[in-house]
Amino acid sequence: MKEYLKNTWDGLYTAFVGMKITFQHLFVPSVTIQYPSVKPPLPERARNRLYVNMADCIGCMQCSRACPVNCIEIETVKSVPGDEVGTTSNGKKKSLWVTQFNIDFAKCCYCQLCVFPCPTECIKMTEVYEFSEYNREDLVYNFATLNLDEIKEKEEKYEKFQAEKEAQKLAAAKAKAEAAAKAKAEKEAAEKAAAEQKPEAETKPEETKPAEEKKDGEGSADKE
Ligand code: SF4
Ligand code: SF4
Repeated sequence: MKEYLKNTWDGLYTAFVGMKITFQHLFVPSVTIQYPSVKPPLPERARNRLYVNMADCIGCMQCSRACPVNCIEIETVKSVPGDEVGTTSNGKKKSLWVTQFNIDFAKCCYCQLCVFPCPTECIKMTEVYEFSEYNREDLVYNFATLNLDEIKEKEEKYEKFQAEKEAQKLAAAKAKAEAAAKAKAEKEAAEKAAAEQKPEAETKPEETKPAEEKKDGEGSADKE
């Protein structure tokens, strides 16, 4: 009987100790939050998903060169005279069409090394950290704003411009070669003409010499 009462008392005592702690927590602030409807504030320099403001991107590729895992893919097409590519918000004139700007977030290690070298500060970390996907391909984000038709148009325009430039270069080189050949021919003709005139000039004094000698001879005869 004594043992029974002791066990009963121990059971009640430990239950009261546990309930005491529970009762105390009714009067202290809660340390849990109702995630995902309530989200904890992020640390000041938290590194999450990247975002690229394409209006400011000049296609310099400094971010992709800095990336240690090569998860940024950029392709550009040069603009041609007359194209209006625009300017960035810090006044830098854009000269390239950015036709592709992909970031593969399945490879990204969120090191932020791509953010620092950007001259226009258009690639930055956001506060988005919930973007899981069922397929890895869906983690490749395309930030480029041009559609396929526009990309094709820009490429064709640039190729045409390059072809015209090349043709102009060839024509200029041809004209230069022709001018050089003409100048060479003129120089050779002038040298030939000068060479033909020279012997005549050299023979003239010899023609006058005998006359002088004759004169001298006459003089000497007179003397005699
Ligand atoms: S955060 Fe790091 S790994 Fe991710 S894209 Fe930028 S440089 Fe590459
Ligand atoms: S460094 Fe900045 S401006 Fe240059 S390609 Fe990357 S995002 Fe664009």
